[in-house]
Amino acid sequence: MIVRFLGLLLLLALGGAWGVLKGSVLQTLAGVFLGALLWLVWDSVPAARLLRWLSRPDAPASLRLSGLWGELFERTRKRLRALEQKAESSDGRLQDFLAALQASPNGVVLLDAQSRIEWSNQTAQHHLGLDPERDLGQYVRNLVRHPAFTAYMDSGDFGHEIEIDGAGQSTSQPHKISLQVHPYGDQRQLMLTRDVTAVQLAEAMRRDFVANVSHEIRTPLTVLSGFVETMQSLSLEEEERQRFLGLMSQQALRMQTLVNDLLTLSRLEGSPAPGSSEWTDVRDWMQQVVQEARGLSAAIADPVHEITLASGPASQVAGSRSELYSAMSNLVSNAVRYTPPGGCVRAGWRTTADGGAEFFVEDTGPGIAPEHLPRLTERFYRVDRSRSRETGGTGLGLAIVKHVAQRHGGQVTVRSTVGQGSTFSILLPASRLRPSAAALN
Ligand code: ADP
Repeated sequence: MIVRFLGLLLLLALGGAWGVLKGSVLQTLAGVFLGALLWLVWDSVPAARLLRWLSRPDAPASLRLSGLWGELFERTRKRLRALEQKAESSDGRLQDFLAALQASPNGVVLLDAQSRIEWSNQTAQHHLGLDPERDLGQYVRNLVRHPAFTAYMDSGDFGHEIEIDGAGQSTSQPHKISLQVHPYGDQRQLMLTRDVTAVQLAEAMRRDFVANVSHEIRTPLTVLSGFVETMQSLSLEEEERQRFLGLMSQQALRMQTLVNDLLTLSRLEGSPAPGSSEWTDVRDWMQQVVQEARGLSAAIADPVHEITLASGPASQVAGSRSELYSAMSNLVSNAVRYTPPGGCVRAGWRTTADGGAEFFVEDTGPGIAPEHLPRLTERFYRVDRSRSRETGGTGLGLAIVKHVAQRHGGQVTVRSTVGQGSTFSILLPASRLRPSAAALN
């Protein structure tokens, strides 16, 4: 500041001195004015450089300026740098927020005051079929063309969510999206979307299940209470009474079997999968399974079935013995129940090409048409409803078998030819099978 002031004084003095030398007052004044002009020119050069520096976006980081202009440059540079850093950090934070919204399992769409799309995450784009670039700035109503959505936006009542068909929805692939708008800020809107297809499917399955169970229990219960009423109102001969009691006990047994199968299923669903520490000799329990099937055949078939156990490798299997036993026993008992009397049932096990185990049951029964095969392991799915009921079936046997197989890392397969018979197999991975001690000796 002092240098500047001294510079001005010096130029004024030099101008004045030149005028005094010339000897006239006018020339002295002209000299002082010239000195002031010179000073202004000299001072404007750094000012112009600073202005040019401020207006150039690609300006160099530093500028060699001295005095007041140097000081001004330095302070401006520092202030600009601070603002830049602040902007950078705000931008970084904005990117963090957007990345968090992007990672959200829900769809997020930010709308401006006119309901135009300002930003959307990938999940929302997938749910609503939006294009991240093309649809920016577009009115959301023009893009989500669903009557329920239009009515929702028109009503302005966003206190509840609505359900609409998701993008790419088809009858074979239902896609249900739940959507809610949350107003915020200055008339802006946050639109959240959620895929509720699985929830709806689970809910539908739960409803079907409850309806099925109620239906299965209602029939024997109606029969049972009918008999009770008859016995209460009529005095029956002893023989008749015994016949009625026999029929009542049959219905009670049917309900009991159903409840037992339901409990088994819920236990299988609710408990951790069996580990691989318990090893059981396969031949032992397969022999028991076959023995039990012969007993069943003797009770329900005349002539009895020819039930054989095919010889397999001496092996041990890892997992829950009781679960595997009940799964095989279900398959063999199905074979006996659905194969006409005198037919053949053959059970056995073998190692598969990948070193795993296949436990199979073949029969010479009626076979199953291909369209039923994919649904056989669904709860309460029956091909032959009356035969299932006649033989005390609950419709849950194969669902139990599938659960057991899956809990042991395996699966159930069915091969069947109508009129010739069926083969049901439980396939277990190699890790669940080892040669038994007897085979190693
Ligand atoms: P269910 O208690 O009715 O036998 P399952 O779940 O064990 O129920 O079997 C489902 C359906 O699959 C049965 O109702 C029957 O129609 C069919 N099924 C099962 N095993 C056989 C078989 N070995 N031969 C023919 N049909 C079978």
